[in-house]
Amino acid sequence: MTIETRGAAPANRGESAFRGFFESVAVGAVQLSPDGHFLEVNERFCALTGYPREDLLRMRVADLDHPDDRAVDQARWDQFLRDPDIRYEAEKRYVRRDGGTIWVHVTAAVIRYGGARPLIAKTVEDITERVRASEVLRDREERLRQALAVKEEFLGLVSHELRTPLTVIVGLADVMARRSLPPHVLQETARELRESSEQLATLLESMLVLARVDREDERSIEPLRLATVVGRVVERHRDVLPGRRFGFEDRAPAGLVEGHEAWISQVVGNLLSNAEKYSPPAGEVCVVVERVERELVVRVLDEGPGVADEDLPLIFDPFYRAAHARAESGGLGLGLAVCRRLVELQGGRIWAARRPAGGSEFAFALPVLEAPDDGLTVLARPGRAA
Ligand code: ADP
Repeated sequence: MTIETRGAAPANRGESAFRGFFESVAVGAVQLSPDGHFLEVNERFCALTGYPREDLLRMRVADLDHPDDRAVDQARWDQFLRDPDIRYEAEKRYVRRDGGTIWVHVTAAVIRYGGARPLIAKTVEDITERVRASEVLRDREERLRQALAVKEEFLGLVSHELRTPLTVIVGLADVMARRSLPPHVLQETARELRESSEQLATLLESMLVLARVDREDERSIEPLRLATVVGRVVERHRDVLPGRRFGFEDRAPAGLVEGHEAWISQVVGNLLSNAEKYSPPAGEVCVVVERVERELVVRVLDEGPGVADEDLPLIFDPFYRAAHARAESGGLGLGLAVCRRLVELQGGRIWAARRPAGGSEFAFALPVLEAPDDGLTVLARPGRAA
């Protein structure tokens, strides 16, 4: 934009009025030579940039530009000087004298005083707060969008998984209702009906865990002797699968964690069921409890084929199943997602790795609860794992 003024440069009266205006405006105001040197700066501009007037009068305006904005702004500026009818308006960053970055809204106009050398007048407004606020909003919006996308994907997967057993149940019920079936077929149909119903119940149970923000359960987190809880689960699996070799090494007999016994049992149970499902019947399944620095670690080791490298980062995601698992065995792909959720609810972490000699290691760690002097009192409480 060009502002033409008649005659020569402003006379004294006009000049003092202009100076009054220049100093009193609520935004930074500067006058520049066409090559970008400061000729005048107002107090507000000094405050905005942190530089004293004398310093600024030795600088060029481009010295204030943030390095990342310089190239774009130079192009915009060159275009403006070539054709001042083009409006110069920019939102960009300045680097203050103290090194801090601020966002500014800048407008510029060329001022021509008759035949005198043109000047450039700029207004500079600090818009840092507005820019930061909109960045926060944008950030929040992006996170919400992502959360919504995850939720939608999860709902899509869940409704698909619910439909399968439901369709089977309805089909089987129809068969039983319509025909007079011989007793052995009726029995087999009832068994299938039960299997699909159990699958449905497991799915619902897992979904509840994954969606859970259950204050009741969080309240019942208590000091537990981890190896005792884990040992009990191993014993149960030994009883159910007498043909399978199970090992159990308790290397941290006194180790305490703050946890929820039912959750820990469920995690260990899921990991053991996977080890049984994904390794040959003759393979040993070994469970180790040990202390590593400030954590108690439970490792479930098997002698199966292990998890492929490309599957490792994904197997804790809901409904993820490796190709071999999809081909060889039934399952919903929710067990490990449930384990991760339950471990994280207790402040722990969970991971999987390939064992150097073959087979898988599935492990989780919970922070050690340092035993108080009267630790035995805690352990002796009724109902506690001791
Ligand atoms: P599911 O067993 O129903 O498929 P999980 O969430 O328990 O669901 O496991 C996810 C996937 O992780 C499995 O499909 C399988 O590919 C892999 N996996 C889990 N445990 C083991 C294991 N012990 N050995 C090899 N692969 C495993």
